[in-house]
Amino acid sequence: MHIEGACHCGSVSFTAEVDASRVMLCHCTDCQVLSGAPFRAVVVAPIETFALRGTPKSYVKVAQSGNRRAQVFCPECGTPLFATAPENPTSVVIRLGCVKQRSELFPSAQIWQRSAMPWLTQLDRVAGSAEQQAFLPVVPQAQA
Ligand SMILES: [Zn+2]
Ligand SMILES: [Zn+2]
Repeated sequence: MHIEGACHCGSVSFTAEVDASRVMLCHCTDCQVLSGAPFRAVVVAPIETFALRGTPKSYVKVAQSGNRRAQVFCPECGTPLFATAPENPTSVVIRLGCVKQRSELFPSAQIWQRSAMPWLTQLDRVAGSAEQQAFLPVVPQAQA
């Protein structure tokens, strides 16, 4: 599947060919911090299909195993874009949030569920609205 992606300010953009059956959610604590979100959604693309425009910056994360991963982001607006091997990359792990076709990319796997937010399975019980809504006033919780 052909995808297009861009950061929020538009100074970095890319195109890639991804396998739409390989969309993954990662609940690891690094992804929570680095994405600024409860979990991260990603899709993998072979490096040969990946075409980048603009000049992103990268932060090299060193895992406990010693494995090094470049976390690539826009230096202007900070949008996380993709991760890759710092040297001789063979693939890019694209952050779904910056992909135009993200609503068509349904996850097929979840990893690091050990550190997943415990409330993710209960989101259908959370009040919502189709567009922005002011936060409701805080009401003290009843003692269980
Ligand atoms: Zn940007
Ligand atoms: Zn992760």
